[in-house]
Amino acid sequence: MDEIFMLTALIQSRKALPECLPNPPVGCVIVDCEKIVATGYTRAPGKHHAEADALNQIRDQVFDCLKMYVTLEPCSFHGRTPACALAIAQDPRISEIYVSIVDPEPRNNGKGLDILRKAGKIVHVGLCADEVNAFLQQYLLKG
Ligand SMILES: [Zn+2]
Repeated sequence: MDEIFMLTALIQSRKALPECLPNPPVGCVIVDCEKIVATGYTRAPGKHHAEADALNQIRDQVFDCLKMYVTLEPCSFHGRTPACALAIAQDPRISEIYVSIVDPEPRNNGKGLDILRKAGKIVHVGLCADEVNAFLQQYLLKG
């Protein structure tokens, strides 16, 4: 099931183009008891990233232990929008996060994962990385 959810996030991420540019097109799925309760993708610069887009859909709902699937490591720095990693870290409803690929952007690059782990979240990296890379790699910062 985990692969299916990540591939669903990948499908979502394609909807981000072209409005999201120059930000990378990222997709996100939130799951409760093996059922998708929210999906999101990167909106235009300054608007919601994929994670915030999905969290926004369930902002008034009560859950115990949600799983989040996101194609790229959540951002750890405050740019045009607040850091997604902090928003997830501070949301007690989310217990587990699957990240497909680590963000090569030097301001992030593992820092987003650290924030989540320090907040006590269970973090998995690398799910469906080949499939996600094939689409996302071209939009990520090189070197
Ligand atoms: Zn973000």
